[in-house]
Amino acid sequence: MHRNTADWSGDIINWHNVNIGQAFGGPTTYYVQSRDPLHLHASERNWQKIRDMYGQVPGGMFGGDENCRPGFTGPRQAVETCGMVEAMLSHETLLTITGSGVWADRCEDVAFNSFPAAMTPDLKSLRYLTAPNMVQSDSKNKSPGLQNGGPMLHFNPHGHRCCQHNVGHGWPYYAEHLWLATPDNGLAAVLYAASEVNAKVGDGTEVTIAEKTTYPFDERIEFTISTGKAVRFPLYLRIPGWCSKPQVAINGKAMGNEAQALSYLVIERTWSDGDRVVLVLPMEISLRRWTRNLDSVSVDRGPLTYSLKIGEKYVRQGGTEEWPAWEIYPTTAWNYGLVLNESDPAAGFEVVKKPWPKDNQPFEINATPIVLRTKAKRIPNWKMDHLGLVGKIRQSPIASDEPVETVTLVPMGAARLRIASFPTIGAGPDAHQWPEAPVPFGGMASHCWGSDSVEAISDGLVGKNSNDHSIPRFTWWPRQGSKEWIQYKLKKPSKVSAVEVYWFDDTGGGGCRTPAAWRLLYKDGEKFKEVMGAGTYGTEKDKFNKVTFDPVETTMLRIEVQLKPQVSGGILEMKVK
Ligand SMILES: [Zn+2]
Repeated sequence: MHRNTADWSGDIINWHNVNIGQAFGGPTTYYVQSRDPLHLHASERNWQKIRDMYGQVPGGMFGGDENCRPGFTGPRQAVETCGMVEAMLSHETLLTITGSGVWADRCEDVAFNSFPAAMTPDLKSLRYLTAPNMVQSDSKNKSPGLQNGGPMLHFNPHGHRCCQHNVGHGWPYYAEHLWLATPDNGLAAVLYAASEVNAKVGDGTEVTIAEKTTYPFDERIEFTISTGKAVRFPLYLRIPGWCSKPQVAINGKAMGNEAQALSYLVIERTWSDGDRVVLVLPMEISLRRWTRNLDSVSVDRGPLTYSLKIGEKYVRQGGTEEWPAWEIYPTTAWNYGLVLNESDPAAGFEVVKKPWPKDNQPFEINATPIVLRTKAKRIPNWKMDHLGLVGKIRQSPIASDEPVETVTLVPMGAARLRIASFPTIGAGPDAHQWPEAPVPFGGMASHCWGSDSVEAISDGLVGKNSNDHSIPRFTWWPRQGSKEWIQYKLKKPSKVSAVEVYWFDDTGGGGCRTPAAWRLLYKDGEKFKEVMGAGTYGTEKDKFNKVTFDPVETTMLRIEVQLKPQVSGGILEMKVK
């Protein structure tokens, strides 16, 4: 199989999120046979590279909607439900092969923080894509903000076929990997959940261990051993990477331990029927700062990451009475930045515990048994974009004159609408203004490459140079050497006397160059006319090319280009003055 399938030993060889979830662990799986250290380490390298480039967000996954795309690395990029369950299974497999608890931590991250929000709380419907920041889950097209076109955020039991088939394996495989056998005839509790395991241990005696807990919503996990006769065997308890001071008691007696974070606490003794072990994994508030996502911040407590609680209004949209499909709309404000307690960030959060839900579904916005309260301010200019996607995050800290409010955070696995990567609120000269949302672009073009967009030319994002792939762009790719155009619609009739164009040019890697020539037209009545008195129509790279002309009154401008032979072209940004 290894010889005849795609080989992920050398590098990431495909950027589709589900392929990544399934295949990144392939080399380490093959290591069991090859014993080649290259294979053992390649999966970790794959994991790191993906998270480094596209996973600077909470929830354990990465932006790959449908593929990872350069420039689409923020918290509003999403991942497929298939991608989540495949990543969970790969993490479980790697845990059994390596024994390393790091794979358990990563598996829990996806299982608790991403996967539950991909389905409605009744588990009857799912959406194709889920992102860490996602404030409306309607059935409208979000492409190219998300790469997939179509109703990808519609919770629909009758759509998204691949995810419907795959989703069913998420929790069963997870349950199957809660307990592992150890090479010294013991048992290891590697993923924590209420469960019961039967196994032969020590000298071959069959025991049952009942595990009682509401982890990850509780720090306490209780194990009760049932055995026909006393038997000696080691019991391994996984200590997660976020837990530095685990506590353990046997039959009510506290037992000292020196277990470190990301290790196993091993209790080797002769066990008798009815012996009881209580493990406590104290959960502390901690913050992650995503420096490469403009210093946005995520809030963790133990294995759970927290989202702003946004009111959810379910609106029936298709499906059947028995299997309804839903859109979810926000009923409360979501554009908050956190007001952090800089000297002691954890002290800025109050932990509020609530009763365990009667229906055993803690991943529901109003039922979740634990919430946090903290201080925040609204950011008025942070809005949904023209696609109904949450506006892109901006550089923190952000200036805000709005009043300080107390907001509620819920586990992000319980939040189908969510802000889990927050801007922070600052003061003084270091605080940035959140710019006004760009004017929705109402234009069109003679052609636009599928993963680019006409909106990119007016999104307010200017690259570092003409070959900057980190921001959205517009291109006529793959059209080459032809005459093409793009139109720019103004908000209202305006007097225009200058236009600036920043050309896209990926010399060295791609097939786009600045055009051979171009000219500007404006709409006059029903016709487009060329502007008069125009200066130079510049085609320089790495700068805005400004052209001035006799003022015109218009609602629409059109750039007409002649592409150079055998190459295409595109625009990163355009300004109208
Ligand atoms: Zn799928």
